[in-house]
Amino acid sequence: MAEILLIEDSKLIASAIKKKIESELLLRVKWGQSYSDAIKLVKENNSNFFISLLDLYLPDAPNGEIVDFVLSKDIPSIVFTGELSDDVREYIWSKKVIDYVLKEGSHNLDYIVSLIRRISRNKSIDVLVVDDDRLFRIHLLKLLEVHKYNVFEASDGNEALGIIKDNPDIKMIITDYHMPNMDGFQLIKEVREKYSKEELAIIGIAGKGDNTLSARFIKNGANDFIDKPFVTEEFYCRVTQNIEMIEHINALRNSSNKDYLTDLYNRRYFFELGNQLFTNSKREQITITVAMIDIDYFKKINDTYGHAAGDEVLKQLSQILKKSFRESDIVSRFGGEEFCILTTNMDHEHSPRIFNGLRKKIGETSINIGFKKIQITVSIGICIKLMDSLEDMIEQADSMLYKAKEGGRNRVMLIK
Ligand code: GH3
Ligand code: MG
Ligand code: MG
Repeated sequence: MAEILLIEDSKLIASAIKKKIESELLLRVKWGQSYSDAIKLVKENNSNFFISLLDLYLPDAPNGEIVDFVLSKDIPSIVFTGELSDDVREYIWSKKVIDYVLKEGSHNLDYIVSLIRRISRNKSIDVLVVDDDRLFRIHLLKLLEVHKYNVFEASDGNEALGIIKDNPDIKMIITDYHMPNMDGFQLIKEVREKYSKEELAIIGIAGKGDNTLSARFIKNGANDFIDKPFVTEEFYCRVTQNIEMIEHINALRNSSNKDYLTDLYNRRYFFELGNQLFTNSKREQITITVAMIDIDYFKKINDTYGHAAGDEVLKQLSQILKKSFRESDIVSRFGGEEFCILTTNMDHEHSPRIFNGLRKKIGETSINIGFKKIQITVSIGICIKLMDSLEDMIEQADSMLYKAKEGGRNRVMLIK
């Protein structure tokens, strides 16, 4: 388990922080009260702390010496301070710290927790810095590395495009305007052909002397800009804000694609994704299979055991369905107790056997509804005949499902 180093001489403050972090982040906090405690703890732990929280003023290190010591061990640091004069602020940012936090106020505890969360997520976020000025580029890369981003660098637009092609997961580009070969605007234009503002954030660096640049960056498709020269604190604020915007939109998208109860894709997203998959598979002559699955006599389960038990059945059946197919297949809840599955590349010779196997597995599974275990059966209608549209295939699968119900339920019917 990752550990956090906390050096704070006030017992009251330290125990509040420790409690908050351990309960909300499930990370272990090692607490020391002084500079000498810090030396001891770092030695014991082999400098393996994930992050440190450091009081700037300690009885045995009154001038912020603790920061230099911990940073020399390559441990990322957040600094506490009781006062924040311009001098103190400047002193803090002259060190390569993640951020500072003022001591008083309980909302600052929340800020610490959100900072630690942010830093631990950053490890999986790719950021590309594009600037022909090598020294400035290195400066930006170092700042990003302090916040644990996964960084890439390029010295002009051309090189940047190559890196983006090889690393399609890049979430942010920070780019200069004046560069040889391909300038910042051209780069943004090319990037925007493939990635929207919600998928990849671009921050333009506007140099001194041209006060129209920032507006032009935005008009060309950048999300934001930073004027040179900037202070470190502003740089971090902009970067964090833009990354969080992308994360929020992603989360929102996910929630509008998923069914709340079962976490399967919903009907709307089934069609969005399914139509793409259908078109591609048709073009590449890959087989497509559409299956409609409906629980037998589900109403009776609700009537006998209650609606909550019915919900539990839907959730557990969804898990079985999800596990039975590949990541590239679409398993969705169409509504009520009806599920639709689209799989590609299935050998159609084996489709009846595969779905009969699934049907049997479902019938044999004991579903836990609190104090009781019950069993259910499903009827399945399948279409393996390639039709003109996905909708047509669904309609065929649906009529096969109807036949399966009519024929006595707990069976698979298939149209070739
Ligand atoms: P059949 O074998 O013909 O499919 O019979 P059935 O009872 O499964 O089908 P019917 O369409 O008559 O009833 C479906 C029931 O599913 C009625 C509805 O109240 C229930 N239902 C739909 N959505 C949910 C849900 O989200 N949770 C629960 N618990 N029940 C739901
Ligand atoms: Mg039913
Ligand atoms: Mg039904």
